[in-house]
Amino acid sequence: MYTISCRDVGRDCDCVIQGETEEEIMKNAAEHAVKGHGYKEEDIMTPEMKNKIKSYIRKS
Ligand SMILES: [Zn+2]
Repeated sequence: MYTISCRDVGRDCDCVIQGETEEEIMKNAAEHAVKGHGYKEEDIMTPEMKNKIKSYIRKS
């Protein structure tokens, strides 16, 4: 299981995003960022942003 906590990313949000695969968690994180934090999908899908999100993924 992969998880990302919004707090780790510096957001004042108690959400923990989960996914079975790295691909799934990236999708779920992007969705949450758009719906929960008002990001635009094209802002998240840049290589820089993807790398940043990946660096926050925790495996368990
Ligand atoms: Zn959040």
